Amino acid sequence: MNINSHTDTYVIKIHCSRCNEYLYKYRKRSNGALVKCHADRIMEDATRGDLKCPKCGREFARYKMIKNKPAQKIIRGRVYVKGHLKR
Ligand SMILES: [Zn+2]
Repeated sequence: MNINSHTDTYVIKIHCSRCNEYLYKYRKRSNGALVKCHADRIMEDATRGDLKCPKCGREFARYKMIKNKPAQKIIRGRVYVKGHLKR
């Protein structure tokens, strides 16, 4: 499945809610609240891959397998989203 072929996706930027550090650029489907990130839709990763903010060190997500694919469950309130750039 080519995720780039979806017309109902948004490119968003995910930031740390404590220090405002930029974490991910992410391709999100639909415009609901962000609760999880699928690894294969992270377009740009500014973290060290340890699910912690590279600046303040606060954990912002936890690993979780969803339908046998690696995903990250966002810890509520730890991030905020910028963008909603319609593609
Ligand atoms: Zn931070």
